[in-house]
Amino acid sequence: MAIATLLPATTAFIQRAPRMLIGAEWVEAADGQTMPLHNPATGEQLCVVPRATVDDIDRAVLAARQAFDDSPWSRTRPRERQNLLWKLADLMQRDAELLAQLECLNNGKSAAVAQAMDVQLAIDFLRYMAGWATKIEGSSVEVSVPLMPDQQFHSFIRREAVGVVGAIVAWNFPLLLACWKLGPALATGCTVVLKPADETPLTALKLAELVQEAGYPDGVFNVVTGTGITAGAALTHNPRVDKLTFTGSTAVGKEIGKIAMDNMTRVTLELGGKSPTIVMADADLGSAAAGAASAIFFNQGQVCCAGSRLYVQRKHFDNVVADIAGIANAMKLGSGLDTSVDMGPLISARQQERVWRYIEMGRDSGATLACGGERFGPGYFVKPTVIVDVDQQHSLVQEEIFGPVLVAIPFDDEAEALRLANDSPYGLGASIWSNDLAAVHRMIPRIKSGSVWVNCHSALDPALPFGGYKMSGVGREMGYAAIEHYTELKSVLIKL
Ligand code: NAD
Repeated sequence: MAIATLLPATTAFIQRAPRMLIGAEWVEAADGQTMPLHNPATGEQLCVVPRATVDDIDRAVLAARQAFDDSPWSRTRPRERQNLLWKLADLMQRDAELLAQLECLNNGKSAAVAQAMDVQLAIDFLRYMAGWATKIEGSSVEVSVPLMPDQQFHSFIRREAVGVVGAIVAWNFPLLLACWKLGPALATGCTVVLKPADETPLTALKLAELVQEAGYPDGVFNVVTGTGITAGAALTHNPRVDKLTFTGSTAVGKEIGKIAMDNMTRVTLELGGKSPTIVMADADLGSAAAGAASAIFFNQGQVCCAGSRLYVQRKHFDNVVADIAGIANAMKLGSGLDTSVDMGPLISARQQERVWRYIEMGRDSGATLACGGERFGPGYFVKPTVIVDVDQQHSLVQEEIFGPVLVAIPFDDEAEALRLANDSPYGLGASIWSNDLAAVHRMIPRIKSGSVWVNCHSALDPALPFGGYKMSGVGREMGYAAIEHYTELKSVLIKL
């Protein structure tokens, strides 16, 4: 067992009871209320952070509004936006270990994995978005204007920053999800009010310090900590917000979408998933089993595009399930500070209870547990679990569990695999494991999801748009698609 030592800077950050950033000020909640944060590996309280009120959200939105409408930021040139984003990424690189340790303590995930993946992916993403800042183009059009046949015109289309962005994120990848919002917002010249998840605001608050250090004008980035029901709802309803970007559950996303429509606020929704992993008979079965295990067990299964439904061609079903169960049984559970650990705790007692209820539901309905099905404390641990003998229409197969629970079902042929894979309200991702190029290319267009991976799962790149079909959301993050979602088009017609 090798326990990583906390940096003095990590301990100091937590001990000083972090505050929120509104405009230029680090502030408590207007009414002085706080909320506790817990270490999911121990259940112990880490620190408290402000529990923002509606007034706090209003002040943060006003700060962002003023920074967008009337500050040096509104006149910042693309090259400066590029350089600032690059500077921010450099500062994150400098503080990568600190950010990873905060993520580990606050979320429960492995500090080593957080540094290599969450933090590094966030840095890479900001650098990718820095590149777009200087490449946002409009176009010019030769127009006819039929009602004025004797006039000459010059016409062009501008792509402009959408304005004040209200960003609300989930707790499973706190820093990375925040940067998926921040990158395109700052590349295009927007300003941001971020409401991190109730449970995991620490890296967002550290990120706000780095934004200040990078030299962004006051009000460009504001972080307001608080609950979804108060702070998140206030941000969603605020008429000064031009665009909402939300990552979280489908239930909350639908509510936010309705409110956004009422105000005609632009909106992007990155929601839940129940992604299929399809293993065809010709696949390299060893890699498929290892890939399927990682697709569900990475980040304790708390991944929106986790491969939580496994479909294996019947003749190899038992072998592949046995291999995955073997991998699961060998996984060591413990604190994310222990570098020998393979799986950490779930985010909260509530999430542990939710996952547990699904496992019990499976047992009660006669499903078979191929492995796992145990929970333990004092942290919020659930052993990696594989469930078989379960019907496609069962809640275990149709609903997002958001934990280390895999349901596995056999299929007979390609058509059945596609039917089962698409038989879901969600459509975020899907993976096909096969060496039959023709079969793979037949299947890709028929799968109803925003991403399809072949012989890998959940592999992301800043250049590839990411988002959902069906109940998995509206809009895309990453790639040029993100730039489109943070800009408006303006048509200009000049009579000569
Ligand atoms: P959640 O919807 O409960 O909360 C997400 C965020 O919304 C939090 O910041 C929360 O405070 C806020 N919120 C809650 N109620 C609100 C309200 N009424 N108004 C405004 N804001 C409100 O989701 P969660 O449990 O934190 O996260 C897990 C979910 O997130 C899963 O469904 C997962 O699939 C999804 N997710 C999706 C993606 C993606 O890219 N598609 C990525 C990560 C997580």
